[in-house]
Order: sequence, then C-alpha cells, then structure tokens
Amino acid sequence: DAEHIVKCAELALYAAKSSGSMSVAFYDERLRQTTEQHILLHHEMINALDAQQFHVEYQPVIETETGLLTRCEALIRWDHPERGTISPGEFIPIAEKTGAIIWIGEFVMRQVIQDWQVMRGRGIDVTVAVNRSPREFNDKHAAKNWLLALEDANMPPDRLMLEITESMLMRNKDGQLANLRQLRDAGVHLAIDDFGTGYSSLNYLRSYPIDVIKIDRGFLSNVPENNTQTALVEVLIRIAHTLDMQVVAEGVEHAEQVDFLFEKGCHYQQGFYYGRSMKLDHFIKFTKKHNAEVLAKRD
Ligand code: C2E
Ligand code: MG
Ligand code: MG
Ligand code: MG
Repeated sequence: DAEHIVKCAELALYAAKSSGSMSVAFYDERLRQTTEQHILLHHEMINALDAQQFHVEYQPVIETETGLLTRCEALIRWDHPERGTISPGEFIPIAEKTGAIIWIGEFVMRQVIQDWQVMRGRGIDVTVAVNRSPREFNDKHAAKNWLLALEDANMPPDRLMLEITESMLMRNKDGQLANLRQLRDAGVHLAIDDFGTGYSSLNYLRSYPIDVIKIDRGFLSNVPENNTQTALVEVLIRIAHTLDMQVVAEGVEHAEQVDFLFEKGCHYQQGFYYGRSMKLDHFIKFTKKHNAEVLAKRD
C-alpha cells in the first residue's frame, strides 16, 4: 500500500545518504555496521508500531504558585518483546536519522489527543506537552493537520504544548518556522526543551514564537548545594522572566529544589519528587488525588 511505499522510499533515501557520506570511509567496517544496525532498527520500529509495542506515559508538571498538577509531559515507551523496555533516549535519535520518527511522532500525537479526551471525560483538564523532532515540521501541512486533529477531538489548542530543541531553531528552516507561527497563533504552547544545553543566543530566542522555556535537568542536579549551578539556574529563570516566557524546571528530585524554585519564581516544576511518568489510568488517579489533597490543605 501507499504508506508502505513511502516507508521504503524513506529508508532507501536514508541508506543512500549514509553510504554517500561514507564514500571516503568505504573500508570503515564500524560505520557500515552502524548503518546496517540502524536499518535493522528502523524495520523493528516500524513493525513495533504495527504490533502496538509503543505506549505513551504521562509525567506530572506542577504549577509552583498553587501546587496544583495542571500540566504533564507525554513520554513514549517501547515494550520490546525480547529486550524489555527500551528508553526513548536510545531509539528516538536513531528514528530521527532513519525517518521512522515521522510514524512514531504521528502515533504519539494521535495517542495524546485520544488520551486527553479520556482525561477530560474523567474530570481532569490538563495541558499536555509533546516532544517533537525537527523533521516533523518539514511537512508544510504539519501545523494545519495537528490543529485539525485537535478540532476534531474538541481539544482546545492551548491544552497542547510542543517541545522542541534549540538546535531546531538554529537551523531556521522557513517551512518549519511557518508551522511554528501557525501553531502559536492558534494558541498551541511552544517550549524550548533542554534549555541551556544548546547554543541559541538570547536575542535570537526573542524572534521565535516560543512562550515556554524548560531548563534542562542537568542544571538542577546540584541545586542548591553547588553555588555556581544554583546561580546559573537563577539566571535562566530571570532570562525567562525578562523575555516574558513561562519557565519550567526539569529534574526536580528533592524538597530543597522545590523551595529554591518557589523563591525564584519558577512557574512550573517537573521531576521524580512529584512523580515519574505513568500509564494513562494511573496518571488520572494520581492527578485527582494530588489536586484534591492540595485543595483540602487550603481550607
Ligand atoms: P525530555 O523531553 O527532556 O524528557 C524528560 C526526561 O527526563 C524523561 O526521560 C523523564 O523521564 C526524565 N526525568 C523527568 N524527571 C526526572 C528526574 O527528576 N530525574 C531524572 N533523572 N530524570 C527525570 P525519558 O522518558 O527517558 O525521555 C528521554 C528523552 O526522549 C526525552 O527527553 C525526549 O527528548 C525524548 N522523547 C521521549 N518521548 C518522545 C516522543 O514522543 N517524541 C520525541 N521526538 N522524543 C521523545
Ligand atoms: Mg521534553
Ligand atoms: Mg527536557
Ligand atoms: Mg532532557
């Protein structure tokens, strides 16, 4: 069928590109093996989609000022029949190279919208952040298609947040930028993920339709013990305030970090301190319990 042909074409293109760039390193066995491994994994990922080995989990994001769980991040999981759960850190970078990310990304987006409807039906109304790879913005209809999918599901655009990395902005492709503008104009939140690990200049950042900054968890790991790191996080939060953007701290693991982030006015927090990623049903129960407890404490 047509979809299969497109998949094969993508893969052939990838193989051609890889071998092209290897023309000087023709005898480099290690490189050749890597390409073969990637092609193998590409097929495995496409098969895994059909075999429903992927699922999406949700990690809580807490609003600092109220303590309420109002957002979450969708994180993909691969339950491999032989190798157990494979972390996205392992397969997403390869999927980005081979092109499989297009189908994986489509699966995640569809699942998130469906899951949001389930959440809504069970009485919780959160904003869901979804990680996106640069390639997914190459299609000039990407924004339109995602917005239509939201409309079909009665999901308000501001309940969706797309997380992209600094490197995507630095590449500055016109088509990608047009998609970003269209999404932001419609109310979709756009976040820079892993902020501080790339090379974007701050002036640059201002010219993009970004409204959320996520501070990479690497910065937070030794806060508040390490003075330099603590000062850095403080600066990153100030930058967000100055640029009039929302700021999220990733990798919050203990109470001292919570106190620090509250004091510095970091708008949102995410990390194991509050909760790991959970399957849909668990996440819904967790959210209800968390918010009920926060509201009960107020009285
Ligand atoms: P990310 O977007 O920066 O996601 C945050 C990662 O940090 C997640 O790892 C999460 O489990 C982990 N994390 C959250 N809080 C803590 C904490 O307190 N301590 C520690 N040590 N870790 C924490 P995960 O789920 O393994 O995802 C890794 C990366 O894979 C993500 O980083 C994202 O870049 C990518 N990814 C995940 N799902 C998708 C997806 O659906 N599409 C795309 N394109 N990329 C995805
Ligand atoms: Mg993310
Ligand atoms: Mg991140
Ligand atoms: Mg990260």
